[in-house]
Amino acid sequence: MKKQIRFLLTIAVGMSLLGAANASASSFDKVVSNAMHTLSVVKDDPRLLLMTDAPYVVIDGASALPYLGKTQVLTGCTVGRGNLLFFQRPQSHPLRFMLFHKTSGQAVIISRMDGTWSAQSLDMGPEAIVQPAFWERTGDYQAGRDLFTLAAIANVWAKDGPYDFLKSAELHNHICPGLTSGYLMAHYIQSHYPLAKGERYTVLACPVWCKEDAFQVVLDCTPGKRGLVVKPLSPKQLKAVSVPNPAAILLIWNREQKTGRGVALSFNFDRLRAFAPQGTPKAAQVLSALDYLDDPDRFVSAVATFDLDEPLYQRMTQAGSNPYELAGLVRD
Ligand SMILES: [Zn+2]
Repeated sequence: MKKQIRFLLTIAVGMSLLGAANASASSFDKVVSNAMHTLSVVKDDPRLLLMTDAPYVVIDGASALPYLGKTQVLTGCTVGRGNLLFFQRPQSHPLRFMLFHKTSGQAVIISRMDGTWSAQSLDMGPEAIVQPAFWERTGDYQAGRDLFTLAAIANVWAKDGPYDFLKSAELHNHICPGLTSGYLMAHYIQSHYPLAKGERYTVLACPVWCKEDAFQVVLDCTPGKRGLVVKPLSPKQLKAVSVPNPAAILLIWNREQKTGRGVALSFNFDRLRAFAPQGTPKAAQVLSALDYLDDPDRFVSAVATFDLDEPLYQRMTQAGSNPYELAGLVRD
């Protein structure tokens, strides 16, 4: 009899230890299930979007991927279905999952706070985020500055924005007019300057703004592979550029033949801004431009072209030079 009691006690203690180890995981499952209930969706509902920084952040010294795996199983959201999106953040950033309903605009944001999970629900539809008052209340939400990230990307997804635009937003970790300009420029480059055999693009990011992150995603022009050379201009240098609205210089270079050409590109922000009334919050501004993402010629123009030889290509891409000066595109 004594033996039996000891055995039962052992099982009970064992079970409670197991319970403690799984408490965080099972309470997480519950929080996700509750969020789906709040949004009136069931697993595999195509109107559901899952957004998270889980691939990037570290939680309790370990990868956050197991929580992402659980959320995928519970929601049915996957990359292949186009309803699982990520946003890049530093590893020390809080872990967050947002469940967003495509047609109602309702969202539940789940955050890991001080070792526990907490969820907040809010209206993040287009009518809500266009109100300046919505953005005055961001301090009320745990998501803080992630709210801007989540609101703009989710609404672009809900309006069936192009997937490569959403991928650009994942790297940039938000959508803004600056990223939109880079997306339009990347597509302008692809349609007007398709590469011939042996050619490659080098984008001189000069001046620099949010657009550079779209070049990396759409064109695979990255700094590490020397496809994107980032050269900020001083205010004085910018003022001296003789072409209107300078945005970048595209170099098309044939490494074998050592020949190429350069194109100075201009971006007209006034045309982009004109779609939204003055005072429209940034997250809503980007929605007003969505219908024009397939029309880069409306905003981007090639304002000067020039021939490239090996010495000029090298000088343009190396440190210490102003490419506008080298191309003869500055005022005396
Ligand atoms: Zn930006």
